[in-house]
Amino acid sequence: MPDLILTEEEQMLQTTVRDFVDREIAPRAKEADERAEFQWENWRGLADLGLTGLGIDTKYGGSGPAGYRQVSIAAEEVARGCASTSVSWLAHLALGTACIARFGTDDQKERLLTPLASGEAVAAFGLTEPSGGSDAAALQTTATERDGTFFLNGSKMFITNASVASTIVVFATEDRSKGYKGISAFIVQKDSPGLTINPMHGKLGMRSSTTDEVVFQDTPVSSDNLLGERGRGFNLAMEILTQSRIIIAAQSVGIGQSALEAAVRFAQRRETFGKPIAQHQGIQFMLADMAVGVHSSRVATMNAASLMDKGLPFLQEASIAKLMASEMCIDVANKAIQIHGGAGYFQEAGVERIYRDARVTTIYEGTSEVQRLLIAKQLMAQYPV
Ligand SMILES: Cc1cc2nc3c(=O)[nH]c(=O)nc-3n(C[C@H](O)[C@H](O)[C@H](O)COP(=O)(O)OP(=O)(O)OC[C@H]3O[C@@H](n4cnc5c(N)ncnc54)[C@H](O)[C@@H]3O)c2cc1C
Repeated sequence: MPDLILTEEEQMLQTTVRDFVDREIAPRAKEADERAEFQWENWRGLADLGLTGLGIDTKYGGSGPAGYRQVSIAAEEVARGCASTSVSWLAHLALGTACIARFGTDDQKERLLTPLASGEAVAAFGLTEPSGGSDAAALQTTATERDGTFFLNGSKMFITNASVASTIVVFATEDRSKGYKGISAFIVQKDSPGLTINPMHGKLGMRSSTTDEVVFQDTPVSSDNLLGERGRGFNLAMEILTQSRIIIAAQSVGIGQSALEAAVRFAQRRETFGKPIAQHQGIQFMLADMAVGVHSSRVATMNAASLMDKGLPFLQEASIAKLMASEMCIDVANKAIQIHGGAGYFQEAGVERIYRDARVTTIYEGTSEVQRLLIAKQLMAQYPV
């Protein structure tokens, strides 16, 4: 991000992550996509760099305080090299681990954060169900308390990392008639009885991240593993998702940046009508529009992150950044394919992978439609009649 004024510390983080990603992760992105398997080598590299515990307290082996600006900077760089790897890492850090770091008891943090921060263990976040993701308050997985133990029944769908995770934060309702107030959050351990994890195959993109179905059949969760207050699980999920929307915006900026770089390089090499296509105004206009999209989304993302880090309201700005950056990265990846011509339609050029990876960003962590609803709601509250 040379076009932003970053602090010296932020620039160091950016350079460190970028160098590592360029050296270790980006060169494996094509093969990772083809293999469609969780990339443990990338995971260990991120862990060695301290990114699996970025922002987690040092007493649990994390990097110590880090704001959302820093997480956003790192998220952009990882996604620029391999979007799939960034999904696995971000679902661990900004969703599963963030829930425990933010809402866990001292005992839960002692037990769970150290292996998660070091990358020895992976975290997942299970909210979405087969019946729907956007209307999360209507979830159907139940939690029934018997003698101080909760028993979960139901299933979750599209859960990133579940099949490689040791710890899954799961949302379930004790009383559907109470709506969102009946929902609590639970920490489910991998080896729990009655827990089945079924990998979901056939994803369009983000193929080296795992996406899984998680089924609970009388799965016991001890009361020690109730996360946050009973009946406050929905609020917990929304708080974490609002924050992590900024991170998905940063991921989208990284995806857009990688498509832009590929297109600029290709346009200077490929010649038609006696000159590089980069010399044709039609291509230049496309490249310029792509750069405007990436830059403006990055600024919106960093603005939302700065507001959050300063403890100021950031709800609307997070939705604006997520909506803008996710739609931008699909458009920029699409234009990158156009600039590559026929070559862009084939795997070798790499831009078709970027396009496939980009596509999910307007769907997960609140679809574009949901972001528009949230922005409109904020507008009406801001400008009442
Ligand atoms: C690769 C991948 C990874 C994922 N990882 C996770 C994860 O780790 N954890 C997790 O919990 N979930 C995860 N998800 C699920 C994701 O968050 C949901 O897919 C998403 O929230 C949308 O929910 P849905 O698929 O049920 O679509 P639905 O909610 O059924 O929506 C279908 C369509 O209707 C639109 N729509 C819905 N309601 C409205 C409305 N009121 N007004 C206008 N339009 C509306 C939506 O925008 C969408 O276009 C993942 C999904 C994918 C694809």
